[in-house]
Amino acid sequence: MLNQKSNFYKRVKETIIEWFEEHGRDFPWRYDDDPFHVLVAEMLLRRTTAAAVMRVYPSLLKVAGTPEALMNLSRRKVESLITPLGLQSVRAKHLQRTAAILVERYNGSVKSASSNLENLPGVGRYTACAVRNFAFSIPEPLIDGNIVFFLNRLFGTDFDGAEDEGAWQFADNVAGPDHDQRFYWGVIDFVSAICLHKQPHCKQCPLRENCSFFSERGIR
Ligand code: SF4
Repeated sequence: MLNQKSNFYKRVKETIIEWFEEHGRDFPWRYDDDPFHVLVAEMLLRRTTAAAVMRVYPSLLKVAGTPEALMNLSRRKVESLITPLGLQSVRAKHLQRTAAILVERYNGSVKSASSNLENLPGVGRYTACAVRNFAFSIPEPLIDGNIVFFLNRLFGTDFDGAEDEGAWQFADNVAGPDHDQRFYWGVIDFVSAICLHKQPHCKQCPLRENCSFFSERGIR
């Protein structure tokens, strides 16, 4: 039974990674090895879409590619650069306070320890884990609203959002032990392209034979 389960998890993980290799999106922060750039991207990505972040990220990095540069910009300038994302006032405050802490406490570098990351303004558990995984290649499970949504649909679980500790444990089982970045990027892109919240494209889905939602509802 345990073996069956882990084989199933393995198959799901491999399928998502294969799908990602063929259809995944190519955002610049996914292939940037500067932890500060990854941190900025992950902070911007909270409560908005990757497509929206793409509209502001290159111009923000052009003038604020280091913690020093970001810290020294005027608040108004940062807000104007990220206005298309909304919540620009609180986002700008968090970005600049984070930049100042990195400069003042850590000599302008991003530290990989969870405790360092989670204490930065506007950086919660997901963002800290994303930076550890994506920028430092530290195997970490990742759970946000979309990943929970996908797990619940596919596996028929009923995790109660990104705060549900059970969801983190479940992701650890499905995606571990290496927590391949491509799996998480794949799920993020898959929910945006195939497993849509309102009308999932189940007919095109390579996971439909194993999907709890699909088997309950049939082909749409
Ligand atoms: S079969 Fe449909 S609901 Fe299930 S994972 Fe695929 S797209 Fe999502």
